[in-house]
Amino acid sequence: MPNNLDNLIKRAAKALKRANYAIAFTGAGISVESGIPPFRGPTGLWSKYSPTILDLYHFRDFPEESWPTIKEIFYDYWETAKPNPAHYGLAELETNGIIKEIITQNIDNLHQKAGSKRVHEFHGTLKTLTCMDCYHNFKYDPILLKKLPASCPDCHGLLKPNFVFFSEAIPEQAKISSIEAIVKADLILVIGTLGEVMPACQLPYLAKKTNNATIIEINIEESNFTRKITDIFLKGKAGEILPEILHYF
Ligand SMILES: [Zn+2]
Repeated sequence: MPNNLDNLIKRAAKALKRANYAIAFTGAGISVESGIPPFRGPTGLWSKYSPTILDLYHFRDFPEESWPTIKEIFYDYWETAKPNPAHYGLAELETNGIIKEIITQNIDNLHQKAGSKRVHEFHGTLKTLTCMDCYHNFKYDPILLKKLPASCPDCHGLLKPNFVFFSEAIPEQAKISSIEAIVKADLILVIGTLGEVMPACQLPYLAKKTNNATIIEINIEESNFTRKITDIFLKGKAGEILPEILHYF
């Protein structure tokens, strides 16, 4: 590991130790190392599939078109995906009281699988589905997706995964609890997100503005945050850098 990065990691660990209320803000980049493809970028899902399949109205009108792709790109991968050292590192930082809460833009449940307890899923989750007719909630079970489009076992209405589609609002509870966490935070550990998705990308700015929070960023490349609000930029893979930070605890 280059010397410079070593020094920055040491500084990041120091800042984390000093923080009163550190939270993590994560995005697709943290799950790429678990084999989950990101949406954006040259190898992202949107380079292969049309985002229309996740438009709420398109989904409602043409579920037979959307559902097979949704199953293939989300559920088929997700069933075998495991947390990586970055997820485990964050869970450990929560256990030892350093990280108080996690706000994630991911829908993959990998933070919880790694043992993190206070996780706000800003974009919802894959692990439950709701019937668009009777609004009953169902825990994901492969049986539900045996026949597509997935339909409600109670009323045969259309089942929709509980993650946020295009033209759909951020889940109210997740939004409130995320903002509550942000305004308490004096340090944000930004991991694996380039800050391109609205309104989630506004959260670190809000923390900077509210408490002049220290922003530590772990990304493989510079993001929209790096030159604007980031105090310590750790360039590299989260799965390699987080375990290095943990050495200082
Ligand atoms: Zn129903």
